[in-house]
Amino acid sequence: MLEIVSAVGAKLVAVDLSEPSAIGRSITERTRLVYFDTPTNPLNSVLDVSAISEHAHAFGLKVAVDSTFATPALQRPLGHGADIVLHSLSKYMNGHGDTVGGALLGTAADIRKLRNESLRERHDTIISPQAAFLILRGLSTLALRMNQHCNTAHVLALTLEAHPSVAWVRYPFLTSHPDHEIARRQMSGGSGMLAFGLETGPEGATAMIKRLSLIRSGGDLAEVGSFICGSARLTNARHLSLAGSQFCVNLGEDVIRCSVGLEDAEDLVEDLLTALEFGQPDSDQPDLRR
Ligand SMILES: *Cc1c(COP(=O)(O)O)cnc(C)c1O
Repeated sequence: MLEIVSAVGAKLVAVDLSEPSAIGRSITERTRLVYFDTPTNPLNSVLDVSAISEHAHAFGLKVAVDSTFATPALQRPLGHGADIVLHSLSKYMNGHGDTVGGALLGTAADIRKLRNESLRERHDTIISPQAAFLILRGLSTLALRMNQHCNTAHVLALTLEAHPSVAWVRYPFLTSHPDHEIARRQMSGGSGMLAFGLETGPEGATAMIKRLSLIRSGGDLAEVGSFICGSARLTNARHLSLAGSQFCVNLGEDVIRCSVGLEDAEDLVEDLLTALEFGQPDSDQPDLRR
């Protein structure tokens, strides 16, 4: 992304948008656009689209929101004041992890301008007929799938939060989430992504992930099956193109991201609870799972 941005002569500046008034302190006469994702990948922070849009518009800036984690089934940034919405169609919108695509939405005038000035010649912005077919078919079950992703992820979030081996959980619809009020105002469900950390830290996380059988280890997200991965993998995947830049924020070593799929919630709870049983080798109880 940095390469694309600098190729068009633009410069990126990192701003902490959890404090929307930071926009006013960070802009220069060259600033044109405020760009962010919400909920954020991978820490599940929720940013206030209305407040950020209000501050940005006061300075004549446009606002673009990557709403991939929420989808239009759960969140409509244009209704909260944003000018442009981005979706990775590869994720929940298609939902089956078998194709790639993206979408930009906004006023006809904004989209026409982008198409004419920036996107027209780029062959990688054209969706193939096969991808279009798969995405359209996936979209017909979006609302149903998102409902299931939300319900199951919420159950898992509550299960994790109550577990003694779990140090912290971030899920937008948990009342303990620091941005919970914004999430309730802006989203109709918490989506299917979870972030959490264990008391035992990164080593415990690696061992726990190994013990899972239904939830697969991997950085894939927003598809039918559940996936889980720790900080090392997240850092590699997300920051490769941003290495050495101010955008390469320190994630912390204990972050576990779980993309909750469409499996039965009880099966997923059982898988997690089993994996969270840390070393009780001298228990009198025989281990019936083996
Ligand atoms: C995966 C992802 C993207 C990139 O989507 P691709 O379709 O893989 O290019 C952008 N934003 C978010 C929030 C994502 O999770």
